Amino acid sequence: MKESFDIVIVGSGIAGLSTLLYLRDTELYKQGQLSICLITKGNLNETNTHWAQGGIAAVKGVQDHFEKHIADTVNAGGYVNNSFIVEKVIKAAPSLMEDLINWGTEFDKNKEGQFDLAKEGGHSDARIWHKEDQTGKAIQDALMNELKKDIHILIHEHTSLVKVEKLAESVFSLGLFNKKTNSFSNINCGKLVLATGGLGMLYQTTTNQQIATGDGIYFANQLGAEIENLSYIQFHPTGLYEGGQIAYLITEALRGAGAKLLNQNREAFMHKYDARLELAPRDIVSRSIMKEIELQENPYVYLDATHIDKEIINKHFPTIKYECIKRLGLNIENDLIPVIPVQHYACGGIKVNEFGESTIKGLFAIGEVASTGLHGANRLASNSLLEAIAFAKFSIAKLIETNEVKPLINFVLQLPVTKNINRTQVQDYMSQYAGIVKSNQGLIKASELLNELDLQNEIDNEFDYYHFESNIVLQVAKLLIKDAINKKENKGVFYNKDLEG
Ligand SMILES: Cc1cc2nc3c(=O)[nH]c(=O)nc-3n(C[C@H](O)[C@H](O)[C@H](O)COP(=O)(O)OP(=O)(O)OC[C@H]3O[C@@H](n4cnc5c(N)ncnc54)[C@H](O)[C@@H]3O)c2cc1C
Repeated sequence: MKESFDIVIVGSGIAGLSTLLYLRDTELYKQGQLSICLITKGNLNETNTHWAQGGIAAVKGVQDHFEKHIADTVNAGGYVNNSFIVEKVIKAAPSLMEDLINWGTEFDKNKEGQFDLAKEGGHSDARIWHKEDQTGKAIQDALMNELKKDIHILIHEHTSLVKVEKLAESVFSLGLFNKKTNSFSNINCGKLVLATGGLGMLYQTTTNQQIATGDGIYFANQLGAEIENLSYIQFHPTGLYEGGQIAYLITEALRGAGAKLLNQNREAFMHKYDARLELAPRDIVSRSIMKEIELQENPYVYLDATHIDKEIINKHFPTIKYECIKRLGLNIENDLIPVIPVQHYACGGIKVNEFGESTIKGLFAIGEVASTGLHGANRLASNSLLEAIAFAKFSIAKLIETNEVKPLINFVLQLPVTKNINRTQVQDYMSQYAGIVKSNQGLIKASELLNELDLQNEIDNEFDYYHFESNIVLQVAKLLIKDAINKKENKGVFYNKDLEG
């Protein structure tokens, strides 16, 4: 592998791939003056992006306005959003949709040939661009196809970032591990873009894929970058209840189309908790479900889509229908769907400025790994794909500002040492003590238990990638608990029953 690049991007979801595409379209790249490399843990499409269902939010149409999207975003976010960033992202959204379309993404249209925009929880208007219930796959596939047009673009699959050091101003040294060949290599770069996605693997049950172990947070923290609001974790109210760690997501759009939540007695209950019923923001719906579960024997509630027009189910939710039949033998046209709230999205992360740059010069964070201020204390549905592509675009001017990579002088990173960390134990502690409802005592307990796990010192004879990742899960969990202990106010997704509000 070439040893030195102007820019290295880590991650191949919407954040990583759109950053790469925007860079490809710069004059500097076209003139051959920008060397870029993208690495990713698994196959190119092993991302959370691939699994996004509902869609991506952008204002279009006559009755919708930027002001309404802005108001919905800050309302969901508990009014602690960065208002400058909210306005910047939401006003850029229509042109970002054009970029996605120009790169080949197809969105559903209605009979009149207009984009068929959907309404989701927390949105006051229909502004969700979607491709059936597989919008993420449509975006991921389109970006990957677009990249194939340039055969010079360097992409390394099955290659994980396992070590990073900042050697000097604008020189990062990276240690990479190739899981297929079991080999370790070193490269360096002037700018490093962490587009590593979420941290769902910290919890027992999540909608996230295996890759979501919080790596970007871990490395940025090691480099001394500021991390903020890690405990603003969004739980999705309707994960399919079936056992196993990765829960299949039943999109919010199904509730948007009229699906109702029912308790074990088949009674609707959302009217007891919020006037917006099933379309209240996710934190409220999740907490309401947990309350109902406390009041009954079953560890899940039902989602009832049986009254929705079959044509709508088959047109807009074909994958959900198929997955429910495949996984549980249920036909959502006739059967109730068992659901529970599950970990879904990290609203906080590596603190970045309006260009996606962290508090460490040259270190960028884009996508779910970043904390941009857009989401505040709770992400509005379908604003995360938007945030990722928005910051990919906003970062470009800074990424190409100066690109002098100093040569690497005799600096070779060694493979990290790994220990046999019990990942399942971390996930159990996190789900028990840092779930939807937290308490002071529970958080202190979690902190003690995680510290104990960290003290275990059974060192592996050789580098073990799974253990390496498990250590990241543990270290990021510790950061999250620390952040939760420091929170003195309940806001958005964060709820500690011992605090006011
Ligand atoms: C089931 C589901 C449904 C969703 N639905 C929606 C929706 O409808 N609308 C919406 O806006 N959002 C939705 N979201 C959230 C949204 O999909 C994610 O926030 C977004 O896709 C994150 O994109 P990303 O590029 O930041 O990360 P990802 O798409 O997760 O990509 C992360 C990349 O980083 C790589 N990586 C991680 N660590 C390393 C490492 N150490 N070395 C090398 N590579 C590494 C991974 O391999 C992967 O390629 C959904 C999420 C899920 C899980």
